[in-house]
Amino acid sequence: MSLIKKIHRFVLDTFFPIRCLSCQKEGMWLCEICQTKILLQVEHVCPICEKMITPDGRTCLGCKNKKSLNGMIVTCSYKQSQVAQLIHFFKYRFIHDLHVPLGKLLVAKLQKTDIPLPNMVVPVPLHPRRLRWRGFNQSALLAEHLAKNLLLGSELELRQDVLIRHRHTSPQMHIKDYWARQSNIAGAFSVLPDADVKNKTILLVDDVATTGSTIFECAKILKIAGAKEVFAIVIARQTKG
Ligand SMILES: [Zn+2]
Ligand SMILES: [Zn+2]
Repeated sequence: MSLIKKIHRFVLDTFFPIRCLSCQKEGMWLCEICQTKILLQVEHVCPICEKMITPDGRTCLGCKNKKSLNGMIVTCSYKQSQVAQLIHFFKYRFIHDLHVPLGKLLVAKLQKTDIPLPNMVVPVPLHPRRLRWRGFNQSALLAEHLAKNLLLGSELELRQDVLIRHRHTSPQMHIKDYWARQSNIAGAFSVLPDADVKNKTILLVDDVATTGSTIFECAKILKIAGAKEVFAIVIARQTKG
């Protein structure tokens, strides 16, 4: 750390100490006690119909031919206020360091599932304009944490270059109409030409899912490029209604 950065950190720590977002204890953004209080999702539904209960959020038989995604693991419920708060501070108050407690939740959840071990961990990319605005890609930070910490003693392959985002799409939350959402996202991504995804099992990582259309689109183009299976993991999903 440079001297200027050290001074900057010292001033921040002295006048604006970091406090646990849940209990206000000084020292970290989420203290260990509050971290253990966050409950992981136990029951999962098919990511497409959002009705059928399936193991680890796999796509149900009835939806298998509708989308390319093999399953989506939703780590926590948005209904837990700490979860909603952590996500909000991570995404909109730009607290980059929150990727650690959030990443820990993803690791803990994934370790409890039976989905096949991925050959590649791929974050959903941000459009370069949005990346400049936020300063970091929140999904890439989570994917990195996951790739480094899922296995003891070895790392999964993290590939941030596989998916390319061409267009800046309006946030999905603001587009209510189903077809408008689909055309908003169609063609927004492509797969790096020599990405070597053939016959690979890929784990897509995103912070939150709403309609799911971003993840469905990424899965679709990865399958077209030859991927064997595509699963996704998100912290939470904002469900219908
Ligand atoms: Zn706390
Ligand atoms: Zn279904």
